[in-house]
Amino acid sequence: MKTIVLGAGVIGVATAYYLSERGCDVTVIEREPGVALGTSFGNAGVIAPGYVTPWAAPGMPAKLLKYLLKPTSPLIFRPALDAAQWRWIARWLRECDLARFRVNKQRMQRIAYYSRECLHAFRAQHAFEYGRSQGYLQLFRSDYDVELAQPALNVLRDAGIAYRELDADACAQIEPGLAWSRVKPVAGIYLPDDEAGDCARFTRELRAVCEARGVKFVFDTEVLALESAGGKVTGVRVRAVPGREARNRREQRRAPAEVLRPADLAEPAADTSPHTLAADAVVVALGVESAALVAPLGVRVPLYPVKGYSATLPVVDEHKAPRAALMDESLKTAITRFGPYLRVAGTAELGNHRTTLREQALQTLMKVLDDWFPHAATPSSAQFWVGRRPMVPDGAPLLGASGVDGLWMNVGHGSTGWAMSMGSGRVVADLVTQHRPDIDLDGLTLARYRR
Ligand SMILES: Cc1cc2nc3c(=O)[nH]c(=O)nc-3n(C[C@H](O)[C@H](O)[C@H](O)COP(=O)(O)OP(=O)(O)OC[C@H]3O[C@@H](n4cnc5c(N)ncnc54)[C@H](O)[C@@H]3O)c2cc1C
Repeated sequence: MKTIVLGAGVIGVATAYYLSERGCDVTVIEREPGVALGTSFGNAGVIAPGYVTPWAAPGMPAKLLKYLLKPTSPLIFRPALDAAQWRWIARWLRECDLARFRVNKQRMQRIAYYSRECLHAFRAQHAFEYGRSQGYLQLFRSDYDVELAQPALNVLRDAGIAYRELDADACAQIEPGLAWSRVKPVAGIYLPDDEAGDCARFTRELRAVCEARGVKFVFDTEVLALESAGGKVTGVRVRAVPGREARNRREQRRAPAEVLRPADLAEPAADTSPHTLAADAVVVALGVESAALVAPLGVRVPLYPVKGYSATLPVVDEHKAPRAALMDESLKTAITRFGPYLRVAGTAELGNHRTTLREQALQTLMKVLDDWFPHAATPSSAQFWVGRRPMVPDGAPLLGASGVDGLWMNVGHGSTGWAMSMGSGRVVADLVTQHRPDIDLDGLTLARYRR
């Protein structure tokens, strides 16, 4: 079966891998000159199925209002004259009650746990280094934040997920670098089975595995539209991005310190006239840009981009640095260790579609690092990045059938796409090739918006 995967972020490349495993002839189309140069590039790297939580949660609206008034805040909101933004917010507010929260969290955990299982099975076959670490520590700065975490803790308890509640000393036993912190946590939660790793580095290695199996990657190529006939998608209209423009985009991006090998990037394409690539099946994995592509075919996806930021710094003092992944629950900012580097990532900025860096967000990242690990890295060495999370209001991704023949979705992974990538890729590849997925997909497809 000839399949085309649109988008070479972690979701698209994972889908391509499992489609090739199912014997498909796979081509991946990507606008950038390599894989994982969009939202998958500089994320926090956390794979914490026990922690995956919808942002729509009880108490969140009040907490967000409080944040909006603070100078150091993980939330930035720019109200816009954009009906899609207000529709998204209204839907999000409806999902904040306890019953909806529990349903949404369980759906997200179902795919996230399955994804971790797929990742471990994959790793057993393909051993490569991607800055992996084990364990995940949540830090709370106030009793109010501990109280807000209770519904999530109840879900963990009910699901039998291993976790430990900690005091400040116990937090420092798990992360000895916290002994030098400027603030003390009032409490912590430790999830020993969760893990972290560099998503972009993993995706680049996964690309190599895909290519060895015959998957074709077409870079510097923009997807313009889907082609359909008789109610079935038959192909994709594409155009090569003029080489210079693609290069300029990459140079403008302030890349994390970790280097891209020349082999990770493609040579610019030459012919820039639009043309059609035919396919039996097309999988949409364009991250935040997926909704606009499928809308002309009547497929409505409530996706909204929520910007986030990260800073990547080389570690200068091993003893005073984090060992694995942590989350400052009060400022919703993660600090993750990737080998010789650490990354601080967070902030939710709603209402701004442009990928420009915002000073206020960068200051919050650096404050969080300075509060917890003031001696781990040199602030002036920070390399900043901004990405756009493909968020749906209720949290769980949209996998599988689009409602149009031959068109499949793998979108809406929001703030936990890396954690859900391998499982989502496998489920979608199973559906495309008419195999029964290993997990129940109730609530993980577009059908949940049609009820
Ligand atoms: C600050 C931050 C921290 C995060 N931390 C975590 C974390 O700790 N754990 C976790 O699991 N997740 C995390 N995430 C979320 C995670 O990064 C995303 O969910 C994930 O990267 C989404 O992957 P994707 O493949 O869907 O999108 P992308 O990586 O954006 O891939 C989509 C690709 O489609 C391409 N594309 C788009 N339009 C076109 C077009 N018209 N033609 C051709 N190509 C096109 C883009 O160039 C891009 O490469 C974080 C996100 C942010 C912003």
